[in-house]
Amino acid sequence: MFVVTRFAPSPTGYLHLGHAYSALLAHSVARERSGRFLLRLEDIDRGRCRAEFADAIEDDLSWLGIAWDGGVRKQSEHFDDYRAALARLEAMTLIYPCFCTRATIEAELEAAVAAPHDAPPVYPGTCRNLSDDERRARITQGLPYALRLDVAKAQAKTGPLFWEDDIKGAVEAAPTRHGDVVLARKDTPTSYHLAVTVDDALQGVTLVTRGEDLFAATDLHRLLQALLGYPTPRYRHHKLLTDASGKRFAKRDQAVTLRGLRAIGKTPDEVRLMADFG
Ligand code: GLU
Repeated sequence: MFVVTRFAPSPTGYLHLGHAYSALLAHSVARERSGRFLLRLEDIDRGRCRAEFADAIEDDLSWLGIAWDGGVRKQSEHFDDYRAALARLEAMTLIYPCFCTRATIEAELEAAVAAPHDAPPVYPGTCRNLSDDERRARITQGLPYALRLDVAKAQAKTGPLFWEDDIKGAVEAAPTRHGDVVLARKDTPTSYHLAVTVDDALQGVTLVTRGEDLFAATDLHRLLQALLGYPTPRYRHHKLLTDASGKRFAKRDQAVTLRGLRAIGKTPDEVRLMADFG
């Protein structure tokens, strides 16, 4: 079947060997099946993303021998697409404004006696039950707010949801374990979960290839797809490359950036081998 894959890094640093593996994997799947390989820059975080890193991503991929199809989609140029999706969710009354600060959320979580220890802390739902009057008053007062998805209400609307992972097979989505996630941040009219779901749909992506650290996030993407009437792509959550001591590569490890390796004279073929892609 025709496949459309993508590589979607955030330009907050230089690409490292882990990125190279992810990009090479998506690229090779597309090329083996005469499909399309897309490049998207997830640059909604204006504070952390830099043009210099965006340019370096394109340059490093070209150096590695990876060519993408069509233009590069930069999320910061498409805020209207995310606003339109948010408006649809709002019309379904699944969105509410949240005025909490990080500090108030932490204080509430600490006060909750029965906090489960085996799950990451989730937003306790403080602003879900504010009255319309209270919401309006706070907005008029000029208090900054994020927009959250009422996940339990959303899942009640969609019923059980499933998705197919190339490695794990059929998976049932469990979005409620994430609590009411933010879909639009106080400083940006979207969030990772919303932008990635909208873009994969608008770009016609049929196979999402990404690291297994994002496996759980697919719960929420599957929920948003169902609410917004988008098709569900297949997923391939791949292993994360680690260094000799078993530690994951990170953007701050200068030694394994493609830039750094190139600077010490490594060839693209050598770097492909180092990225487990000989
Ligand atoms: N932008 C994300 C990252 O750089 C990847 C998102 C995705 O592939 O879904 O980690």
